[in-house]
Amino acid sequence: MKRFDVTAVVAAVLLCLAGSTLSAQEIPTVFRGGDILTMRGDQPEFVEELVIQRGKILHAGTTAEGKKHAGAKPRVVDLAGKTLLPGFIDTHGHMIYFGKNLIDGDLRGAKSIAELITRMREQVKKMPPGAWVVGFGYLARDLAEKRHPSIEELNQVSTDRPVMVVDSSGHLGAGNSAVFKAAGITAETPNPEGGSFTRKPGSQELAGPMEETALNAVRSQRPPFSGELADRVVTGAAEVWASYGQTTAMEAGLGLGNDDIDIVKNAVDKNLLTIDLYLAAKDSVTDDAINAAYSVSADFNKNPGGTSRKLLATRPDLDKRYINRVRLGGIKFWLDGSLDTAWFTEPYTNLPAGKSGDYRGFQQIPNEVLDEAFDRFWTSNLQLNMHMNGDAAADQALAAIEKAVKKYGMRDHRPVFIHGTYLRPDQIQKMKTYGAIPSFLTSSIKSGGDAVVHLWGPDRAAHALASKTLLENGMKFTYSHDAPVSPSPAILPLVELAVTRQAASGRIVGPDERVSPYHALQAVTSMAAYLIKEEGSKGTLEPGKLADLVILERNPLKVDPSTIATIPVLETIKEGKTVFRKTAP
Ligand SMILES: [Zn+2]
Repeated sequence: MKRFDVTAVVAAVLLCLAGSTLSAQEIPTVFRGGDILTMRGDQPEFVEELVIQRGKILHAGTTAEGKKHAGAKPRVVDLAGKTLLPGFIDTHGHMIYFGKNLIDGDLRGAKSIAELITRMREQVKKMPPGAWVVGFGYLARDLAEKRHPSIEELNQVSTDRPVMVVDSSGHLGAGNSAVFKAAGITAETPNPEGGSFTRKPGSQELAGPMEETALNAVRSQRPPFSGELADRVVTGAAEVWASYGQTTAMEAGLGLGNDDIDIVKNAVDKNLLTIDLYLAAKDSVTDDAINAAYSVSADFNKNPGGTSRKLLATRPDLDKRYINRVRLGGIKFWLDGSLDTAWFTEPYTNLPAGKSGDYRGFQQIPNEVLDEAFDRFWTSNLQLNMHMNGDAAADQALAAIEKAVKKYGMRDHRPVFIHGTYLRPDQIQKMKTYGAIPSFLTSSIKSGGDAVVHLWGPDRAAHALASKTLLENGMKFTYSHDAPVSPSPAILPLVELAVTRQAASGRIVGPDERVSPYHALQAVTSMAAYLIKEEGSKGTLEPGKLADLVILERNPLKVDPSTIATIPVLETIKEGKTVFRKTAP
């Protein structure tokens, strides 16, 4: 109560200073007449009334108490039976890349290579002269040909414009002759560590497809988005994020594109964002390691040095606070690949196409690189965000953390295990010891759950995305969409899938790891705020925290869980300002 009274006094003084013309932000706003779910504590807590002012929460409690804070003439919002809860927090998405994809050609749902070529020809018309023509979102296994397009097929799109297509995982793609020429990749170019260019049979000639670091080597040579295109990247994506109830977004891989820093700088300089954006930047050590193994990349790396360092050079305090809604919160590493390139200690149960022997997926970066990163960042305020799907990748992360703890002692670092799809019980105990927190890609249960059972086997699948096990261990976890890897940055489907764990076939994948709708909501609100170390200002409805809110048509705790994903988001409010409102259809 003490802290609350001080806030009220300060607010009153500020009101006096502001004089008689009060802006919308200065008039207290009272929300009542619906389910107001605070997300505070281990059990659902509903309050009668929420009072906000100047972008912050003044009161979450009874109407009687609320009167003291709302003043004589508050603005009153009647929720009319709708549900109000804290704004959702994205703990692993790629807002910048999603924004770029809004500019690029949409290849989702393409059924054949002929269709892909037709769509890419349309895309040529939409892009200014000289710009690369890029398409995103197809899946080779959904194409009639069950493969990526060849260099000859992409040359049918254009022979003079660089053309590149990237699949929906973001890890695989293909290019035409002009794009390889533009990127300086030839038949003589060796495959980089952790990836490959497909070659024509019996030769070194480029066949078109490329995977992992090879794809990144080409992608990083794309000319930058600038001017209006750069504005559109962030404003377009932020609009989509807000429409799904998110008041904090993430770009969890900044630096893969060579225009990323300029796009962020443009957004900060022009104050383009309406919601917060947490950045996890690709680190220089990774670049250096790849460069050492791969001379071509070094030749073309125009800006050697880390993404984080370059960002901090443009805005020195970007890692300490939000500047015009942008904060550098972490460093990103990729320790393994996706479903069929995840790195395991035990072989795949069924081999992915094209693999043989006791294939266990790929290690992406040498141990020394990760060890050095923890050495540098363990005691800093930048969190290490590590992409991992298999348990061998989790072992690599835990070994690096152990070394840092031995050297510097325990810190409140909160290493992020992005996806953390399969974690062994012994690894979960170590994560607890070191305060590591996973961001589970629950959206993958529907799209990839059946494939996980097939490739990884029923035992690993049953304990993939181990929410319940973590809960029982008193640990925190979050749910993320990884958009554009998942087609949409929607949050409620993540909640539903954590509750149902139902794959596309209808199969329940790992019924023992299902959690209640309330715990699933915590993973996108209070526990999500904890993951980004912002639990002091976000994640629950409590006095003093930011008025980051979402209003839903129905209460996720009161509907059939299999319908949670379909609950419409009606309004999203960032620090008291409406940033999204659903319009009547
Ligand atoms: Zn990702």
